[in-house]
Amino acid sequence: MKPRVFLGIDIGGTNIELAVVGIRGRLLAQDTVETRPNDGPVNAFARIGERVSSLVGGSRDVEAAGVGCAGLVDFGRGKLLSSPNLPTWRNTALSRIARRHLGVYTVVDNDANAAAFGEYKRGVGRGARSFVCITLGTGVGGSIILDGRVLRGRKNYAGEIGHMTISERGPLCKCGNRGCLEAYVGADALVRSAMKKLRRGSGSLLWRWIRDQKRAASPRLIAEAAKKRDAAARAVFDEAGAHLGTAMASLINVFNPDVIAVAGRVAAAFSLMERSMWDTIHERAFAEAVGVVAIQRGGLGKSAAAIGAALLARQAVRERADDPRGG
Ligand SMILES: [Zn+2]
Repeated sequence: MKPRVFLGIDIGGTNIELAVVGIRGRLLAQDTVETRPNDGPVNAFARIGERVSSLVGGSRDVEAAGVGCAGLVDFGRGKLLSSPNLPTWRNTALSRIARRHLGVYTVVDNDANAAAFGEYKRGVGRGARSFVCITLGTGVGGSIILDGRVLRGRKNYAGEIGHMTISERGPLCKCGNRGCLEAYVGADALVRSAMKKLRRGSGSLLWRWIRDQKRAASPRLIAEAAKKRDAAARAVFDEAGAHLGTAMASLINVFNPDVIAVAGRVAAAFSLMERSMWDTIHERAFAEAVGVVAIQRGGLGKSAAAIGAALLARQAVRERADDPRGG
């Protein structure tokens, strides 16, 4: 019998990250395929299917696949209900399409759960009993893993850390609520905060880059300026760190985590937020719980969700095998 492996598929708006993981959880191979969202999910999975045999190699068998995708996912049915990155893929039975093109059992979860599970098993969350992962990007995602299992809630909506209210009268969030964490530390919020500061004082390096050199304002550019000690840019991340710390203080009091990971694209600026984040946490959370938590930048980078999706597939297969009804 050939060695069994698990395939992880992280579907983003532009690219699909693929990861092949061995039975012991080791990463064996990786690849990237274009999403081409307007061509639809069937086309995307057909292209993934074409890539898989060369990625896996003839000496191994894929036992199951895991798909991670931004948006609302019906985990039990393997269905993507809606996704901000893939608006035309609404109500799509991704597990059925994947099964048809890959020929294996497939689980589907949201990308924040997949990334968190990857960090929990193979990244900075290894060995944690209570693990919280926050993903910072255009949206702010989250996931909570307790005793080895993703906390899903009744309908897999649990873990929406980006939509925790941290201020009752705060700015309007895309979800319709006011004062969500995402409305303070999402990529758009960081750019808005920088532009507001720049309009007040124009001596800034960041201002010169944006106005004179016509560079596009982005969290990455703001971070670059902050690393060159630009005061306005540093203030953006100081304030974002304090907001992040407010959310984390509540998470620490509620879940008593041993590790909190900060992952996602904007996590590259984590070191710029760390000081104000910790100051706020010390002010607001129980000292006993703060004393045992490690807060770290995620270790798997952009591969986290693909690796985590493969590991979720492995967990699902093990549980099916343990189920006397045969799953
Ligand atoms: Zn919100």
